[in-house]
Amino acid sequence: MSLLRVDGLEAGYGLLKAVRAVSFECAQGEVLALVGANGAGKTTLLRCIAGVHAASAGRVVFDGADIGSLRAPRRVGLGIAMVPEGRRLFTAMSVEDNLRVAALRARKGPWNLESVLEAFPQLKPKLKAAAGTLSGGQQQATAIARALMTNPRLLLLDEISLGLSPIAVDQVYESLRGLIDAGTTVVLVEQDLTRALAVATQVICMLEGRVALQGRREELQRQAIMDAYFGLGREARGAA
Ligand code: ATP
Repeated sequence: MSLLRVDGLEAGYGLLKAVRAVSFECAQGEVLALVGANGAGKTTLLRCIAGVHAASAGRVVFDGADIGSLRAPRRVGLGIAMVPEGRRLFTAMSVEDNLRVAALRARKGPWNLESVLEAFPQLKPKLKAAAGTLSGGQQQATAIARALMTNPRLLLLDEISLGLSPIAVDQVYESLRGLIDAGTTVVLVEQDLTRALAVATQVICMLEGRVALQGRREELQRQAIMDAYFGLGREARGAA
């Protein structure tokens, strides 16, 4: 059974339809990369799964249960954690307090302050520093670490490489690789196709709110994804 199933999801802002008829399944341990140009609807889709934006139609099924009517905090309690674009840390609070606050809503599981710091060793010397004083890469690490403190079964990551130096991106992805290898299920919104394809087991390319291309990573050629990204050759599918 899939850990996450999205069926015919629709969402928008007033008259604007940002997500149209999106369906997919994500099994335990999978890494689903959501790619697509600016405004394609990736963030809105992620927010609907997290429960911070209301879908106008369709279903979000998590571990076999329809969670469409549950608000975001209940979804965190079920094991869905989101790292939003721009990180949204409590910048005046210390890194440690940012992490401990998240633990207040934690499920039982392997993640605690100690194990999170093992996964993100770069945060160890920064624990007492105000989060706002950290570098972009350290702040991103803190945001992912904060999500882990809730002991998620599903991690939703929105543009974790945005605005970071290449070295910081390398470091964040290195930590992410550790989480993936440990079996964490991830839905990742990423503008950097190379980064996304390096970690994905499944890829969905969105265009103007719709799924333009969808498939297992190994079945998709980069060129077909690029074409779908830019709305070229919409019929192109798969490696053929
Ligand atoms: P980006 O990479 O730029 O974040 P995205 O693929 O994540 O793009 P969304 O942010 O989901 O796309 O945006 C989808 C559409 O919804 C776009 O047309 C965008 O302008 C619009 N949109 C997003 N947020 C809002 C909002 N708060 N109010 C009105 N329209 C919005």
